[in-house]
Amino acid sequence: MSEAKQFDETDAAQDALPWRASVLTLYPDMFPGPLGTTLAGRALENGIWSLEAVHIRDFAEGKHRNVDDTPAGGGAGMVLRPDVVARAIDHVTAEGDTRPRILLSPRGKPLTQEKVHQLKDAGGVILLCGRFEGVDQRVIDGRELEEISIGDYILSGGELGAMVLMDAVVRLLPGVMGKVASGEEESFESGLLEYPHYTRPTVWEGREIPEILTSGHHGNIAKWRQQQAIELTKDRRPDLYEAWKSRD
Ligand code: SAH
Repeated sequence: MSEAKQFDETDAAQDALPWRASVLTLYPDMFPGPLGTTLAGRALENGIWSLEAVHIRDFAEGKHRNVDDTPAGGGAGMVLRPDVVARAIDHVTAEGDTRPRILLSPRGKPLTQEKVHQLKDAGGVILLCGRFEGVDQRVIDGRELEEISIGDYILSGGELGAMVLMDAVVRLLPGVMGKVASGEEESFESGLLEYPHYTRPTVWEGREIPEILTSGHHGNIAKWRQQQAIELTKDRRPDLYEAWKSRD
């Protein structure tokens, strides 16, 4: 990556509209949290993206400002009310706002790098963080929320999921990562997991850096890395390997 190219990318980032995230949560104080530091934090300060954390409770009514209630049909826990959640969603959705509306949910489609790219290109997102047992199905249907999961395990709330999703998008925004190329060789971008990395010292606890990496032969190094990536993926993620093998 040449200096000039990097300058262009930064320039473009300053002209473009920021990628805009609205997060609906019962815990707005959690934001920006870790996204206020390092790469994402600097990008937030520089206006490459923006983040508004909206308190769902502000849209509750009545003396007790209830946001949740017991599940219809019985069972443990509480469910977020559709009326309160819908008011919060409507509040952040201006006329003509085409940002995807996402509910973080273990029932959702798993987040993938491909999806992360799509969300980046969508210009922003509205993220609803569930809590308790989840959210009334009618608001999921009525506001056409897309459910996205960050993995096959249960979190106590959607907030960490929202942060994971935003972190993955923000690092792809132009001007965020110093060297754009470092994003392109990553695991998943090629359909394979990444090859192993090494750095100095050349010998550490008797373990040497693979000789080929110090040979200076770029062609052979690239071949070796590709082979390592294939072996690793075959071993650890046969599902990804099969998909990669049958790609067009
Ligand atoms: N009763 C639900 C789990 C609720 S966990 C079920 O069994 O499916 C409470 C909230 O945490 C959810 O509403 C969701 O917003 C969030 N959450 C939990 N696990 C998640 C995951 N793997 N990915 C994304 N969000 C998750």
